Amino acid sequence: MSDPAGDARALDVDGLDRLIAALSERGFAPHGPIVRDGSIVWGPLRGVADLPAGWTLEQDAGRCQLVRRGDGALFGWAVGPDSPKRLFLPPSLQLFTARRDDEGGFALDPPAPAPGPIALIGARPCEIAAIAVQDRVLLGSEHTDAHYRARRDEAFIVAAHCGEPGGTCFCVSADTGPSARSGFDLALTELHGDGEHTFVIEVATERGAAVLEAVPHRAATGDEIARAAAVVTGAASRMGRELETDGLRELLYGCREHPRWDEIAARCLGCANCTMVCPTCFCTSVSDLTDITGATAWRERSWDSCFTMDFSYIHGGSVRPSVGARYRHWITHKLASWHDQFDESGCVGCGRCITWCPVAIDITAEVVGLRSDGSPPPRTRTAGFRV
Ligand code: SF4
Ligand code: SF4
Repeated sequence: MSDPAGDARALDVDGLDRLIAALSERGFAPHGPIVRDGSIVWGPLRGVADLPAGWTLEQDAGRCQLVRRGDGALFGWAVGPDSPKRLFLPPSLQLFTARRDDEGGFALDPPAPAPGPIALIGARPCEIAAIAVQDRVLLGSEHTDAHYRARRDEAFIVAAHCGEPGGTCFCVSADTGPSARSGFDLALTELHGDGEHTFVIEVATERGAAVLEAVPHRAATGDEIARAAAVVTGAASRMGRELETDGLRELLYGCREHPRWDEIAARCLGCANCTMVCPTCFCTSVSDLTDITGATAWRERSWDSCFTMDFSYIHGGSVRPSVGARYRHWITHKLASWHDQFDESGCVGCGRCITWCPVAIDITAEVVGLRSDGSPPPRTRTAGFRV
């Protein structure tokens, strides 16, 4: 049920607050962007007052700073280090617990039940694209992830089309933004300034329409619809980064011995930050743990990373022992072999791996370097985080 432009609706700030309340009344747990720990992350949302009004994130390679915008925009920033991945694929999950009983046997406790359905308020187009990527990986075959499914199935998504791309964004190159095309129930575009604060709303699903019906709203005017379109057009023209994707798969498959890999290895710390913040990375490992008495044991699934030595350890050694080999594997999977596995790119252009790399390694710059003949790249600035 795609909403034709002429049928767009409009809400004010109170209306958005009522929308969050209406979702809560229907049993959803609203989650959205909140200011926490000097950044903007996903968290439980009680209402509009929890949204990051007047805040933005200034980002560049290896740098992110939370700063005031000087206005009251609620969605005047792009993405932070966190993404909805954490809500659907928890960083750590106890799969079962075994307890020794008095007779020498043991009892098994199942994992805690998944929380009730989540409503995402203000998911960015690149984040929605990343959810679709994870859906394909974790739900798209006969081998589905039951824990992911339990959190993902009923989720309600309110998209926020982007008006303020960050310094490391390249969703235009990835063809995932700055407006969301599918994968949401409702989508909003924020219009603010000169005393106005309005959200132009698109309705994409029947349940989106039903929730909106419970909230006071009106038809958007032609002028509002035109300005909402201009918001995303403007965002598209201000991308912080660009990635040339033509021939990229062939380039990566064909440059296994490129000197750039050694040059990257000299800078890369192998810290795995890039994979932890990436909204499409899905790798996990499973550990069996016990308490100090041995009376209780549990099996835990945690996010893991192809940047760790242990991740590719196979009977006696890691198959990717060098940092350069691990970076080569990561970028080749993201931008080349993901196409063969899942018929799409593994990168949605969110820029997180660039911002949160402590030594400012930039996936877009590395591709430029790999396209070159191997002569030394220009120096990249390295900067500590100033969050
Ligand atoms: S590889 Fe980097 S830019 Fe691409 S989706 Fe992952 S974090 Fe975002
Ligand atoms: S590319 Fe950056 S974030 Fe990723 S492992 Fe290397 S140093 Fe860490």
